[in-house]
This record gives sequence, C-alpha cells and structure tokens, in this order.
Amino acid sequence: MNASAPVARRWLFADQLGPHFLDTDDQPVLLVQSRRAFARRRFHRQKAHLVLSALRHRAAELADRCEFRAVDRYTDAAGDRALTVCHPTTRGALALVQRLPGVQVLPARGFVTGMADFAAWADGRGRLLMEDHYRIARRRQGVLMDGDEPAGGRWNFDADNREPPPKPRRGRSGPPTLGVPEPWWPQEDEIDEQVRRDLDRWERDGDVRFVGRDGPRRFAATRDEALQALEHFVAHRLAAFGRYEDAMLADDAWMAHSLLSAPLNLGLLDPLEVVHRVEDAYRGGQAPIAAAEAVVRQILGWRDYVWHLYWYLGPDYPAGNGLRARRGLPDWFAELDADAVQARCLSGVLADLRDHGWVHHIPRLMVLGNFALQQGWDPAELTDWFHRCFVDGYEWVMVANVVGMSQFADGGRITTKPYAAGGAYINRMSDYCGPCVYRPTVRVGEQACPFTAGYWNFLHRHRGELSGNHRMAQPLRGLDRLADLDALLDQERRRGTDPP
Ligand code: SF4
Repeated sequence: MNASAPVARRWLFADQLGPHFLDTDDQPVLLVQSRRAFARRRFHRQKAHLVLSALRHRAAELADRCEFRAVDRYTDAAGDRALTVCHPTTRGALALVQRLPGVQVLPARGFVTGMADFAAWADGRGRLLMEDHYRIARRRQGVLMDGDEPAGGRWNFDADNREPPPKPRRGRSGPPTLGVPEPWWPQEDEIDEQVRRDLDRWERDGDVRFVGRDGPRRFAATRDEALQALEHFVAHRLAAFGRYEDAMLADDAWMAHSLLSAPLNLGLLDPLEVVHRVEDAYRGGQAPIAAAEAVVRQILGWRDYVWHLYWYLGPDYPAGNGLRARRGLPDWFAELDADAVQARCLSGVLADLRDHGWVHHIPRLMVLGNFALQQGWDPAELTDWFHRCFVDGYEWVMVANVVGMSQFADGGRITTKPYAAGGAYINRMSDYCGPCVYRPTVRVGEQACPFTAGYWNFLHRHRGELSGNHRMAQPLRGLDRLADLDALLDQERRRGTDPP
C-alpha cells in the first residue's frame, strides 16, 4: 500500500467491533444501525439490546472517525462510494456487499484458521470430524504444544471433563450452586438507557416484536468490558470450568462458564488472544490442563469449525432434513413459555433462556435440542429459533450446531450418531429430576418422563435410518426388549404438541 494514500473507510458490521477489524489506528469507519434488521425477525429482547448497545458504544469510542448511520436498509448508508469490508458472517450480508460496486470485500477476520486452509483439509474427506480439524489447528498455531506433543500428554481431556454436578454440601443453606465466584457483570450506562428507551418505543410502534424478557445487560458490549470479562474468568472461574462443563444445576445457570461467546461473536475479542491468555494461565499454574484444554477446544476447535462448515458445506446445507422432521415448533416453546411446562428440566432451561437470552451448551444440546429431535421438529425452524433467542446466536454459529450436531439432519456428516438421550442422562448430569413431577426411569403412565418416553419413541420412529449405524446397535436392541412399547407409542401419540 502507498504510505501516503488515504486508507479507505471500513464498513464494520455489528459483529466486527474489535480493533482487529481495522487496519490502522486512525482508519475512518462506517457503522450502520438498521431498524429493519430487527423488524425482520423476532429476536430475544436482550439480544437486541446487546447488539445495539455494542454498536453504539463502538460508535461513541470512535467519535469523529466514525460515520454512524441509523437507516432503514444497509444500502441506504453504503451508497455507491468506496468502502472496504471484512468478509461478512452470513451469506445474505456477503451477497449484499458484493452487489455494491464501490465495496471491496477483504478476507474474513475474527477466526483462526483461514478458509483456504480449512478447504484444503476438508476436500475429499467423507466425515468432517471436529477432532481432526482441532489437532491440526493446535499444531499450526502452536497452542498447548510441548514441542511436537500436546501439553499434558493428551489431545483430549473430555473424559476428565464430564463430571456430574457436585452434591450440595452438608449444612450449606440456599440452593445448590457450583460455589465459584459469580461471573463478571457489566455496569449499564447512559447508552444502555437510550437503547432500552428505543427498543421500548420500537415495540410500542408495533413494527418490532421480541421474545424473552428484558433484564440487566449481562454480557460485555465494549472491548474494555470484554477484556475485563476475560481476565475475571481466567482469575476466578477457569480452574473449575473443565470438570463441570457438561453438568447442569437448576439454580446455577452460569456455573463456571466464561460467557465470552457473546463478546467473541460481536468481534470484541480475537479468538487467538483468548486462547493465548488461557494457555498462559495453564503455564503459570493458575489452571489445570484439563480446564485450559477444554476452553481451547471450544474456541480454536469448535467455534472455528462451525464457522468453516457454514461456508464449506454450501447454501443447501441449512435445509438438510435427513430424518424428515416436519413438525412446527409449538407456541409454548417458540414463546419461551416456561410456566406452561411441568418437566422441571425443560421448564427451568426455558425460564433461564427467557430471562437471560443464554444457557450453556449442555442445556442447549441435551435439553432443548434433544427434546426437539425426539419430537420431530423442523430443523430449519429450530435453527432460526436458536439464532433469534440466544445472545451469542448467529446464523453461522447455529447452522452446523443445530442441523448437524443437535438434529442429525445432515445424515451424519459431522457426528457419528444422534444426540438423543432419555431422562437417565439428565438425571446423571443435573439436579433437575429430584423434585420433578416425572420420574426419569418411568416410561409409561402419569409419572412417565417425557425425555425417556420421547427417546424410545424417537428410536422406534427412526429404526430404519439408524439400523446401519453400529453406535446405535445397542440402543436398538434395548428397544426390541421393551415390553410396554405399544403403550408408550400410544402415550406419545396422544401427547401431541402439548407442553410436557
Ligand atoms: Fe426432566 Fe424427566 Fe428429569 Fe423431569 S424426570 S427433570 S422431565 S429428565
């Protein structure tokens, strides 16, 4: 680049807000707020708040360098002038910027592995396993490596990281929690107040509707806040993260999770800086290898992997429906109506989602996704629901997570078997079942657990598709041994779409 040439104005989307999306410290910026984007879909109220708050905070930080445009459509702000933009994160946004003659599209930022490197790895492979991608990324980036060997002598500490929640300590009052310090919480400011007033007004005007409840902003909306959240997590919570990352507690939604997925997906943190900070904590004796590896796996492994699958698997992948699941989402689920549900796990998770716009990955996969899979709900509709209802949900995040992993709708391109489980799994990994009106071991009758009955119903419905999968052979043999299968199937038919 000619040193004296002016740097082109950089158009930043609302998920490209960190410094790594700019080339220089004085580069001029265009930020666009589109009300129509919020009117098109029914987002969770707290997601709309977080995105708008982050966008406006960034505009305030950039001050005179930033042209901030509140318009109806993005094209109203871009016009036909010369702009540069980092590769957007959705196919729709990419098509939009490619249509504008003055816009130069740069390679993607905010992810670790480049698109060409991922394609070179994926081309010609049948099943694209995360573990293979992850190990290559660890080697290439030199993360948690001791020479040629993985730190701690193993690539994978999943076996150490599947502990059920600890039993409540004797004599301890109050509801059972993990007992680690609370997450870092932001302080709202006048920008948040203005966002709240605007969202209230938009809703009153009738053209924008939300799901979920308003509440205090829980996630970082600025670079400074994101760094504080990262440091707090590393200092106070990282050490406990790994062991209990798959566990659920009814009264502790946050457990030892980092809550960094939201600022990462807003582009406020670069994934490599998070990974390096976590590795430093391990090297400095602040965290065991199993905890550090678990975080690195989530970010360098899984996050990059689902990003690349979104692009690599093509525009038809999101419509995959290999199990022909065609039922629409019932209203009680779509509306996060936790009070309509008696099943304690599902009601509790829906309530947490309604109140925070977030639950961690196991309630997403093993409660919400598992129930949808069992009930045969449409994967594309479910993907859209996850995208709208979670503060960290974006199209690129949810497609592979929901279509591929959670709903097995891609015919097994990224997983070896469906993530279907009965009440026994939830009972082992949580404290939900004790006071529930249902019993996790009961299949038929008044106390039949809807997850247990739903699991067998699912296996029966898809016996044909699953019979060639050797990992499903044992569950299918179990299905053959059920003496009460006819009664169970009749019970599930009668359940229909009623809340369990
Ligand atoms: Fe959920 Fe079944 Fe346990 Fe109730 S018994 S909490 S429905 S898994």
